[in-house]
Amino acid sequence: MNAAAIIPEWRGSLQPPRWHRLLREAFTDLADLLAYLELEPAQLDLPERPLEFGLRLPRGYAALMRKGDPHDPLLRQVLPSARELQPATGFGPDPVGDLTAAAGPGLLRKYTGRALVVATGACAIHCRYCFRRHYPYGESSASTGQWQSLLETLRSDPTITEVILSGGDPLMLSDARLAGWFRELATIGQLRRLRIHSRLPLVLPERVTPGLVELLAASPLQVLLVLHANHPRELSPAVRGALQPLAGTGITLLNQSVLLQGVNDSPEVLAALSERLFEAGVLPYYLHLLDRVEGAAHFEVEEGPARTIYRELLARLPGYLVPRLVREIPGKASKTPLAP
Ligand SMILES: *Cc1c(COP(=O)(O)O)cnc(C)c1O
Ligand code: SF4
Repeated sequence: MNAAAIIPEWRGSLQPPRWHRLLREAFTDLADLLAYLELEPAQLDLPERPLEFGLRLPRGYAALMRKGDPHDPLLRQVLPSARELQPATGFGPDPVGDLTAAAGPGLLRKYTGRALVVATGACAIHCRYCFRRHYPYGESSASTGQWQSLLETLRSDPTITEVILSGGDPLMLSDARLAGWFRELATIGQLRRLRIHSRLPLVLPERVTPGLVELLAASPLQVLLVLHANHPRELSPAVRGALQPLAGTGITLLNQSVLLQGVNDSPEVLAALSERLFEAGVLPYYLHLLDRVEGAAHFEVEEGPARTIYRELLARLPGYLVPRLVREIPGKASKTPLAP
């Protein structure tokens, strides 16, 4: 199983929220997407057969793409490519050692003080460079049946002071499920911080409902939301509108990006991204070198060129707008910074 399209089940008596409907209406058929973008298959380097990690993107995200442009940086992030099937040395199914870092079903421990919960395998969008595209979510996510034992693990380890909800995308869970997590986590005495890693506010801003904002604002823990924007055009007016109430609650808003060939591998684009993020109340946190996951080799920017881009970025921006350039090396005590 991959980051499958598990659309949250709605058991409430009221109408399901609008974002559920928008998820169901996402593009999953390549021909539909190409027709919408006014592109011909011959303009693109498409795989001969549909890939296992299939096409998926919300219509609102597609609306930010330039029609008729086969090289659009937003399209490139989601468009399956024939190059995904070419073998590439050094690229594998588990590039960052997630499987060896498992501390139980749905729980990853790599760094002191922090525990990462794979809250769900579902995502609103399938990014071709996703380092968890081959992750066995079926066996290893914190599904309802296992979350009590996971909470027990967190409770019994006094060194864990920060819980990171990740996935998949944790904001794919319904507000009720999230409220359940928050309630339980708030009873763990040693926890100081709750961090959520999500791309949903960017690719489906309708997910940021007043109910979600309220839920985050009400947590007794310090809450951080780490977004994942890669390109300044992802910060649309709708996205800025969704982030505004979050910023207003005093939640810390950060962003991490992946340095991606043909998407954001230039100092101009990265500087514009930092500026746009800051206008939306978000501080740049990490700029990751690509994790070498099978199928993503065509996105790689090698260390040398990455350093050159980064040096130029440093020369363009105030220090607080420069994300840290890092790579994840399995077995290290932290993400590994790259010297410019
Ligand atoms: C990246 C990561 C973290 C968070 O690292 P920070 O440097 O604190 O952002 C925590 N746990 C796991 C398993 C990770 O991969
Ligand atoms: S990069 Fe994030 S949003 Fe994209 S598919 Fe992977 S987990 Fe989902």
